[in-house]
Amino acid sequence: MQSALLGKEEAKKAIALLRSSYKDAHYYLDFKNDIDLVVAAIISAQTRDEVVNSITPALFSRYRTVQDYARADEAELAGYISRVSFAAAKAKNIIRTCSAIMERHGGKIPRTMEQLVELPGIGRKTANTILINAYGIVEGIPVDTWVIKLSGRIGLSGSKDPEGIERDLMGLVDREDWRNFGYVLKAHGKAICQSQVPLCSKCVINKLCPKNGVAKNR
Ligand code: SF4
Repeated sequence: MQSALLGKEEAKKAIALLRSSYKDAHYYLDFKNDIDLVVAAIISAQTRDEVVNSITPALFSRYRTVQDYARADEAELAGYISRVSFAAAKAKNIIRTCSAIMERHGGKIPRTMEQLVELPGIGRKTANTILINAYGIVEGIPVDTWVIKLSGRIGLSGSKDPEGIERDLMGLVDREDWRNFGYVLKAHGKAICQSQVPLCSKCVINKLCPKNGVAKNR
């Protein structure tokens, strides 16, 4: 029986195979500017991208600037995002985040990890997402629920917390690939390594993966 963690060489082979299988993997949320991106990233927590993309056109027409969100009526804003989970809490966070951006940064979205994670509702995953997709700045790998699940299944990380997983992946993935490796894992999860019943017989890394054939519901 294989260990639950891959050795470094095997892990690098698995990463290379996944990268070449999902060359078009990219960030899935729609946005036209950096404030759209910040808001989409906040409301996407525990919500499918398709649901987020279905509600953001109306939201982005109603609110166009950081100031618009900072001044928004919380109940009205929550109404625009009512189809996402935790809409009321997310509306509150968007208003608090945009108020903080107005007060601390003159209405400009910060360009550093340190400044972003001090904003309410912005953790490292969202900060990485904003830096990569708004500014092309790569400081780490965004770790979402797909990345957490697949990193454990494939044996790329033994950590349970997102920061530990990100650290492990940063040690395995070439730096120039940090920007999209999370999206590669997500694409693999949606296409093949599905949550309930992974399609291991069709998987490009099934000869390397320690959970080949035994990952059901794990
Ligand atoms: S072999 Fe199965 S569990 Fe492992 S990555 Fe492929 S689909 Fe997922």
